[in-house]
Amino acid sequence: MPEPILVSACLLGLRTRYDGSQKLNNKVLEYLRENDYIPVPVCPEQLAGLPTPREEVQFVSGDGNSIIAGNGALATVSGRNLNEIFLRGAIEALQTGRIASCQKALMKERSPSCGVHMIYRAGERVPGVGVTTAMLQKENFSVFSEEDL
Ligand code: SF4
Repeated sequence: MPEPILVSACLLGLRTRYDGSQKLNNKVLEYLRENDYIPVPVCPEQLAGLPTPREEVQFVSGDGNSIIAGNGALATVSGRNLNEIFLRGAIEALQTGRIASCQKALMKERSPSCGVHMIYRAGERVPGVGVTTAMLQKENFSVFSEEDL
């Protein structure tokens, strides 16, 4: 029986990334096909209302769990704080997952929204989760990245 799964839109070839590019991943396509998944594409940053292209965003402190807990900070390279906007995107992605009856999510590694194991903080690649991944995990979604396949 086919199962719906949330998937970071850029992994499916949609040009949703901050610089207008995509990250089509053939391993992801193959995995979805082989396991009879129905991909439900989401881009939390677009769902939050951010334009594409947009400024690059990194964690200044903490990670997705910190942002949800009210600590930590996310900012654009020019210094605009985006904590609230990223939380909005995470809630929209969660709502989409619920409407589509998803229990799993396959998310793009290292993104400030979608990262599952690693993120960028102050220019360094460090262990941590993105804001949407943290929100989905908090709501008991099973979340993994393209690098787990
Ligand atoms: S927010 Fe997630 S889906 Fe959107 S471009 Fe970034 S990694 Fe891809």
